[in-house]
Amino acid sequence: MAVCNFFYKLVVEIKKHASRQLEGSSSQKLKQILKMKAFFNSDFTKNTNEGRLMQQKLRIIQAISQNGHGITVPEICEELQISAPTGIKLVNQLQEDGFLRIVGKKETVNGRRPNIYGLNNVEFHALSVEILLKRISVGIIDSNLNILYYRQKTDFELKNTPECLASIRAFILECLQNSGITEDSVLGMGVGITGQVNNATGESFTYFNFMDQPLGEYLSTIFDVPVFLNNDTRCFGLAEKIIGKAKDANHAIVINLSRGLGTSLIIDNKIVNGVMGFAGELGHMQFGRKEKMCLCGKSGCLGNDVGGYALEESFIEKLSEGAGSLVKIPEDGKSIRYDEILQAAMNGDNLSIKLVQDIGFKLGNALGNIVSLLNPELIIIGGKFSRLKEILIGPVKTGLTSSALINPLNHCKVEFSELGDLGGLKGAGALVFDYFELIRN
Ligand SMILES: [Zn+2]
Repeated sequence: MAVCNFFYKLVVEIKKHASRQLEGSSSQKLKQILKMKAFFNSDFTKNTNEGRLMQQKLRIIQAISQNGHGITVPEICEELQISAPTGIKLVNQLQEDGFLRIVGKKETVNGRRPNIYGLNNVEFHALSVEILLKRISVGIIDSNLNILYYRQKTDFELKNTPECLASIRAFILECLQNSGITEDSVLGMGVGITGQVNNATGESFTYFNFMDQPLGEYLSTIFDVPVFLNNDTRCFGLAEKIIGKAKDANHAIVINLSRGLGTSLIIDNKIVNGVMGFAGELGHMQFGRKEKMCLCGKSGCLGNDVGGYALEESFIEKLSEGAGSLVKIPEDGKSIRYDEILQAAMNGDNLSIKLVQDIGFKLGNALGNIVSLLNPELIIIGGKFSRLKEILIGPVKTGLTSSALINPLNHCKVEFSELGDLGGLKGAGALVFDYFELIRN
């Protein structure tokens, strides 16, 4: 059976019930869909029997999707706080509607073995897009954040121009066509983009700010799906929260250390966005060298000392002062890439090791202040630098000790991400499942 977008089917049923079907242009439809969540919780659905039943059915589907396996009637009754007869009635109706099927029986101590119900031939897909300074990635992700299809373009440069936007649009379309996934099985598009982003409105302030409409709305009009936009590091943080090391953490700081420095904050089990989506700008906090001017117009921003750009700069500086290294400046005039320096450090190149350690100390020193401020239980270091765990861990901890209060520091672990290069892409797809509450974080 072809993958059906039964979730929408259910939503349409709810809409019918409300005598309000999705209608109008694609962008109008989008707005209606985006309001769905409020609709599910509206007084209308709560105040009629049939409306309440619809909501309960939806919650059963969400609960099965969230736990990744099936659910029994007693578990449904507990989760929804409903009586056994109501639980049985809902499950029977969902089975008749073709949404659920029996996937097994649960072992119990008293010998009764209740049926386990799972979703019937249903898969949710998210179209996932990660737009970084020098590469763009597109994937199709399932609700367990497995990547079913994936392509990356590295001959790409992010620019705030209509031409760059057109190339992104063409690449997404090409990937969608090549993926073999039917568009109607795609629940939505999650986009992680570098720079300043307002996740609530879908606005990107750094890139593609020349249009009348927000980037998220523009993409949803083009691809006719709901689009959820967030900063690339916040997407990465969400992936850590759902499938990574922050899975069981209520208070964590997730660092994305690659070309730039990004930070995602998890407080009380939630990713913090801030009122406009700007929370977590550790890279623009004044922990850096005062003589260095930042693109934001200030001097002393940490991001100018910590990250791939900073590593390239200090490497060139040291070479010009006469230091030796295994890494040679290319004769064709091309500049050295920071990933080559990271690789050299892993190969034992002393200069590269020293510079990476300097960055580790500065990062740790800045983070120590955040540890005193927020009292997190965990710091996760991700991004391209995370492969250098053995080299970084010592200096990061020394940096932390140099600035943090000792009590909160003693209760804060430092871990390195194991999500790899595709963590951000998975997190972008997770924005979609998170919105529809099909994933537990
Ligand atoms: Zn700055």
